[in-house]
Amino acid sequence: MTSYNPPIDDINFCIRHLAGIDDILTLESYAGIERSDLEQVLDESAKFARDVIAPTNVAGDQQGCAVEGDTVRVPAEFADVHRQFVENGWQSVGGNPAYDGMGLPAIVAYATNEMVETANIAYSLLPMLTSDAAEALEAHASDELKATYLAKIITGQWAATMNLTEPQAGSDLAAITTRAVSDGDRYRISGTKIYITWGDHELAENIIHLVLARLDGAPEGVRGISMFLVPKFLLGPNGEPGERNDVRATSVEHKLGIHGSPTCVMSFGDNDGAIGYLVGEENRGLAAMFTMMNHARMGVGLQGLAVSERAYQLARAYALDRVQGRVYGVEGRAPIIHHADVRRMLMLMRAQIEAMRALSYTAAAEVDVAHHGSDETAREAADRRLSLLTPIVKGWCTESSEQVTSLGIQIHGGMGYVEETGAAQHYRDARILPIYEGTNGIQAADFTGRKVLGDEGRELRAVVGELRDFFAAANDAALSGAVKAVFAGLDELEKGLEWLLGNAATDPLAAGTASYNFMMLAGTVLGGAYLAKGAVLATSGASDVDEAFGKEKLATAAFYGAHVLPRAHAFAAAMMADPAVTMAIPAESFQA
Ligand SMILES: Cc1cc2nc3c(=O)[nH]c(=O)nc-3n(C[C@H](O)[C@H](O)[C@H](O)COP(=O)(O)OP(=O)(O)OC[C@H]3O[C@@H](n4cnc5c(N)ncnc54)[C@H](O)[C@@H]3O)c2cc1C
Repeated sequence: MTSYNPPIDDINFCIRHLAGIDDILTLESYAGIERSDLEQVLDESAKFARDVIAPTNVAGDQQGCAVEGDTVRVPAEFADVHRQFVENGWQSVGGNPAYDGMGLPAIVAYATNEMVETANIAYSLLPMLTSDAAEALEAHASDELKATYLAKIITGQWAATMNLTEPQAGSDLAAITTRAVSDGDRYRISGTKIYITWGDHELAENIIHLVLARLDGAPEGVRGISMFLVPKFLLGPNGEPGERNDVRATSVEHKLGIHGSPTCVMSFGDNDGAIGYLVGEENRGLAAMFTMMNHARMGVGLQGLAVSERAYQLARAYALDRVQGRVYGVEGRAPIIHHADVRRMLMLMRAQIEAMRALSYTAAAEVDVAHHGSDETAREAADRRLSLLTPIVKGWCTESSEQVTSLGIQIHGGMGYVEETGAAQHYRDARILPIYEGTNGIQAADFTGRKVLGDEGRELRAVVGELRDFFAAANDAALSGAVKAVFAGLDELEKGLEWLLGNAATDPLAAGTASYNFMMLAGTVLGGAYLAKGAVLATSGASDVDEAFGKEKLATAAFYGAHVLPRAHAFAAAMMADPAVTMAIPAESFQA
């Protein structure tokens, strides 16, 4: 098993040249912060991820989690990792300074998260959900709740969870039945939530559950759902955790991967009802929870990139080391990296990873402007762009991680299929990513319906237009292959968009049958376009990019153009197929 070496050069490159950190640092909220300060933070984060977190990845997978007595036992090594993580301030990198956060740009927190997620994806869910919850509370909670809870969550002293899913309510949150009853200035919550990530443990002094529940008499469906803050330990008069609240993890799931992350069945209100506090307005809970979910969707997309990077580093090391057969030009028996087909697989991994990073960092940069932009127009524009790109980052990066981690196994041959190299763990860990935080079918529906049809394609057209303008100006001969492939991909994406706009209004099946392929088309093309944009910028003589980095970026973009971008045509053709073809066999006929 290899260690993890954070790809800090590519991360810094994306932050500077694709996310535009110099522009972000001109925002008033970041006055006084220098780029060099941020680079130091990232270097330290890389060391922490490499030296402290990454070595616990395999142990976490092997030990798993279990309910023990009144709590949940998690892998032993995680306690020290989390203690150091919190003490060193890593939880609070992007947090609001008004609540003890460090107040660094969100794009920097995104990069530190990438490294934590790559080092140990199962552990990373604990800090990820904690900061997602902070985001929702900051946007929707009362001043009193914020004053009581937010600083403790932002600093990581207390952890947080997201409680949506119930046995009958997975994708369909309208079916939630967890009950909330008013009890003076608070509420009593009762019901069962399933699959709750890091639902219980003893790594933090308190756990703050954000819970969706229904008040008695609330309207049916999603308009009758409210959000509550339910602490594991109720606070005593001094504001410190005291008496245990009526909420418990009753079991932990046995599952395919992320064994180090406890996936809990949570029982609220077995006795008198768990005490909870309303967040935001009654019956407006789903909108509030969407703040948390959107943040988490960007985080899960990033997990797709992260687990792919770890699988790639492992496969690369194996390919350099494993000797098999002879290859023209290599003396003696050759390390398998010299076989053209192994190189193809490594390049497929690398090119898709760099495309994921290019796309997701471009999208994540919008978070800073959406929150801190100088005027309303800039903030709204950034929010629109982020909303469009979020389901693509979540859906396409996580779908891509399935192929990349599978290639990681293939490069190892039989040693990939057996557990001891660690390649299999990455494949198993990756498999949850297209499922949780809204399955990719739901991401595709969100992208197609709400984000594209909802604005008649305007924002997506704007993205395509900006990319066309950028590449029109980049006519260097060395770039021509990569750039030509991007233009061909953009043509396919526009065709798909026009087909959707033309057909969705008249054929009720069109959006549903097209949505997955449309999301994959958009991800494949935009990932490739931002990767190629990086190649153009890396070879344009920028003083902070060394020549070797620029050449490799260009070679990677050219490979993506030759091997991945042609998939755009297949996705476009599938999305534009007659919707009736998908639905031709009636549901009843599937019965055995
Ligand atoms: C390891 C793990 C961790 C999790 N962590 C959390 C957590 O912390 N908090 C939490 O609240 N939940 C969590 N979940 C739950 C997760 O978000 C749900 O599993 C997911 O939303 C899907 O719900 P479901 O499993 O009920 O599948 P279903 O909703 O039954 O879906 C089954 C299939 O039908 C498709 N489908 C369903 N409805 C539609 C539709 N409208 N359009 C198109 N296709 C559709 C889905 O795409 C999927 O392919 C976790 C799950 C797991 C396995």
